[in-house]
Amino acid sequence: MKIGILGNGQLGQMLAASVSDLAELDVHLYDLRAYHADSLNEFIAQVDCISFETENISAAIVAQLQPFASKLRPSLNALKTFQDRLLEKRALRAAGIATADFRAVNSLADVHQAIEQLGLPLVLKTTTEGYDGKGQFVLRTADQAQQAWDAIGGRELIAEAFVTFERETSIIASRSADGQLMVWPMTENVHHEGILRYSLYPAEALTAAKQAQAERYIRQLADSLDYVGTITLELFDTKNGLVANEVAPRVHNSGHWSIEGAHTSQFRNHMLAIAGLPLGDTQPKHASVAMLNVIGDEQPAEAAEALQHAHRHSYGKEARAGRKLGHITVVAESNQQRDATIDQLQAVLPADTWPMR
Ligand code: AMP
Repeated sequence: MKIGILGNGQLGQMLAASVSDLAELDVHLYDLRAYHADSLNEFIAQVDCISFETENISAAIVAQLQPFASKLRPSLNALKTFQDRLLEKRALRAAGIATADFRAVNSLADVHQAIEQLGLPLVLKTTTEGYDGKGQFVLRTADQAQQAWDAIGGRELIAEAFVTFERETSIIASRSADGQLMVWPMTENVHHEGILRYSLYPAEALTAAKQAQAERYIRQLADSLDYVGTITLELFDTKNGLVANEVAPRVHNSGHWSIEGAHTSQFRNHMLAIAGLPLGDTQPKHASVAMLNVIGDEQPAEAAEALQHAHRHSYGKEARAGRKLGHITVVAESNQQRDATIDQLQAVLPADTWPMR
């Protein structure tokens, strides 16, 4: 079976690598940055199934995919839904999942109205193309409305009530066309300057009850869209329970630990699901796991080479401030062993984000 992945970044590469042992799957990556209508048509024609490493796909490409929607996994509907934060929030609500209250914002007057209806602080986000905290503005006072609209407005926005959370988490699952759902344990995710810095499993505060709730949520969401492939649900853990933040219709940075840490990775189960093959076991192989992103500079990550419990991945990308260049997975038989290893890798983490310091 020929599988085409839109996008040839690290996610596309890890998707392809995850099934390199399966001769029946022939994986091709399409470089979205070199998009041309003709080359994409050629690419689509030569594959049996199309998937994607990112939902940030231009409207022109989405339109071009339309006639080939039957080849697309996850579906074109899922792609369109999770490309747009408004459609995404509506889909979450329709699936019975708690989210912040939200409103569409198309003008400065709408910003003022949203402040009245949702209160302050208020989070404004572009409905499309935002990632790693880009295209966002947190209003603390009503007189920031003009400033916020000038900064990210002039296009459709979503206003969200501010969620006071204790921690950020995510849950990842893969669903097959016949409705089988395999779920990885949820991780605690620590961000800095809008970028994921590290993920932990287990996280002390993430109880079995929370895991069960997160599993119910991701099942409701995936079933509601008859979703095929790997899907990620980012959740705020609040005093009043789990509240969905956003969805990625794809493998996610917070699931990279599953390559070494679980019996089957998020990448492999995505490929198996879209190819119609039986999904693998998502149970962790180790008692304690962490994933640390290597951002901006790979030099501090070299320390991982010498550490028994650490696995270093380099994406072979040119260094740039704030850019994800690789990650390190730590697998250990206790949290103590894991945390001792992370202590040794502290140089990859921004100051004050690692509680053991
Ligand atoms: P997002 O791109 O939607 O994941 O937002 C980036 C980050 O902004 C999240 O990881 C949160 O830390 C924060 N954030 C987003 N939405 C909200 C919200 N409604 N309330 C509080 N913080 C938020």
